[in-house]
Amino acid sequence: MKTIFVTDLDGTLLDKTYDYKPVEKFIRKLKAKKVDVVFSSSKTLEEQEYYREKLRIKDPFIVEIGSAIFIPRDFFSHIYPRTRSVREYHVIEYGLRIEVIEKLLKDVENVYNVSLKRFTKMTPHEISEVTGLPLKMAEWARKRMYSEVIVKGFPNEDEIKEILRRYFHLNVFTSERLITVVGRADKGVALRILENLYYEEYESIEIIAAGDGEADIPMILAADLGVYVSNGKRIPNVLKSKKNVVIVNNREELIEFMLRYLSSSRK
Ligand SMILES: [Mg+2]
Repeated sequence: MKTIFVTDLDGTLLDKTYDYKPVEKFIRKLKAKKVDVVFSSSKTLEEQEYYREKLRIKDPFIVEIGSAIFIPRDFFSHIYPRTRSVREYHVIEYGLRIEVIEKLLKDVENVYNVSLKRFTKMTPHEISEVTGLPLKMAEWARKRMYSEVIVKGFPNEDEIKEILRRYFHLNVFTSERLITVVGRADKGVALRILENLYYEEYESIEIIAAGDGEADIPMILAADLGVYVSNGKRIPNVLKSKKNVVIVNNREELIEFMLRYLSSSRK
């Protein structure tokens, strides 16, 4: 059985320091067990490439909340529908391009007479101040291709979110300080598309998905086994008392659970 570990980054694999070193050993152990490690994050291509390189991961990855799947060209032996090929990747794009999202957001800004504080308009320094990201990463974070990130705390926030969803048909995900706006993409849909490709390649597969935020719920529900990292927050009702969803308190418990699960399921 091929096991694929699909994981969110911020708040799941990474803590507030954004340092990859605390998970280096964990990733090596997964790799030793031939587990594929697939990032699925709101982070951009550049941000995710940094962690892939540092952690020496060569598996597919999903950027900007399910908007696009990047697959190394030789990864699958079969041919699959793709939007385009960029550098060493085949890309399956599912979300909307940033140009389209920007146009819609400008419309909303005009109607409500607000100027949204959003990543593509902010300087790396401003992004770094809001998120705590190191400056270099803040630079990568504003190179968005399929989603916009808005800093919370603007007038008519709830109404604007509702309008973006209902009339502009965008998906809107809220975290502690930020709101991410994407096309009709989410991490659950992206997981299913990738799952399909894996089934073409392997007879039997198992997908484990881990995340800590609202945007992770669709992929936790879509996986064979979901792991929700609560980080001390309230557990979403939809994940409670589900047989194939495990709740852990923090990253260390996630790592512990994964290693225990993998060694017991392989005996
Ligand atoms: Mg997260």
